[in-house]
Amino acid sequence: MNNLSFPRLGETSGGGSREKIMVIERQEEGKNLHGVSPVLVEKTIQSYCGTVIAAKKTKDGKIFVTVRNESQVKNLAKISKLADGITVKVYEHKSLNSCKVVVFCRDVKNDTDAAILTIVKVQGITEVKQIMKGPEDNKTPTVIFILTVKGICPPKEIKLGYLLLETRPWYPNPLRCFKCLKFGHTSKDCNSEKKCSKCGEAFHDACNNEAKCVNCKNEHGAFAKECPVLAKEKQLTKLKIDRNITFWEARNIVEEGLKTKYSNTVKASIDEEVKRLTEENSAQSAKIDELNEEKKTYAETLKNELELQFDAKLNQYKEKLNNSIQEKVKKMEQMEENMLALQKRCEHLATSYKEEKHRRKQAEKEVEKLKENCIKSPPRKKKGVTEMTPY
Ligand SMILES: [Zn+2]
Ligand SMILES: [Zn+2]
Ligand SMILES: [Zn+2]
Repeated sequence: MNNLSFPRLGETSGGGSREKIMVIERQEEGKNLHGVSPVLVEKTIQSYCGTVIAAKKTKDGKIFVTVRNESQVKNLAKISKLADGITVKVYEHKSLNSCKVVVFCRDVKNDTDAAILTIVKVQGITEVKQIMKGPEDNKTPTVIFILTVKGICPPKEIKLGYLLLETRPWYPNPLRCFKCLKFGHTSKDCNSEKKCSKCGEAFHDACNNEAKCVNCKNEHGAFAKECPVLAKEKQLTKLKIDRNITFWEARNIVEEGLKTKYSNTVKASIDEEVKRLTEENSAQSAKIDELNEEKKTYAETLKNELELQFDAKLNQYKEKLNNSIQEKVKKMEQMEENMLALQKRCEHLATSYKEEKHRRKQAEKEVEKLKENCIKSPPRKKKGVTEMTPY
């Protein structure tokens, strides 16, 4: 088992339109090929037809084998038992071995489909269908043609006379039931009641109800282009055509894709939330830092201011103290001066007193002397002079 995918649109894989998809299915009722050794299956395939292009197991336990040519188709179809005796049936895939393409051509607009088919059928084209437009009773031809081509790999171009017409993949409208309006089956296979395409209730004429889609329950009619269910069905069809896979494989891929998309969305929203919270957190941290910085600055300013105030008070106090000291010193000096003056005055007085005392002694001595003199020689009596009485 080598490559597990099939060639896609526009890929050339050597065999061209001769490649085919064969199905190996287990014969026994209710059993499938899950759990059967892939080595044994590969050995069996190789022993019948050599190396094939690709093989893969489907979800329901069948094996799809892409073979190169008609000879491999014939040889593979001969397998009825795998190497370990499991009975199988091998057949060509019903829908995957042809594909539809769209071409545009105004030059054959008025030719019939059959006439065109006779020209192009040598290129492996099995059906030509011109798209018509307008009401059922008055359809007019368009320049669009849908061609069914043999093989799993659509040709890039179709030759029509001298013209080379470029092909595009054809995506049919999703299969829709015109009775219950749901997708995936036709009205022939429908067991449900007929629904109103506007309100989604049981069918009635002239609907005056609010629009409600039978498929998505949104407020639009069942045929609205914006319906998400219709979009999903279209996606499935496109995938099925582009990858040349069955509808069920396409459904699995789309649903896996939606799950991944959903989990990615959830993850993205969680990431977004985490990012938001982180940003908020860092913004708050920044704010806290800013406040801390502000607090620090404020504390510093306050400290400086207090220091300044304190210094100013201290200086004032110092000055006051200095002044009062100086005043006191001056007073003391004054007092000292006064004391000195007093002392001088005292000394002076003491000197004066001594001198006075001395003078007094001198005077007393003189008085004494005079007295002695008077006693030794009393004065002579003169006329008019009264005699002094001695002591
Ligand atoms: Zn239905
Ligand atoms: Zn209605
Ligand atoms: Zn809808």
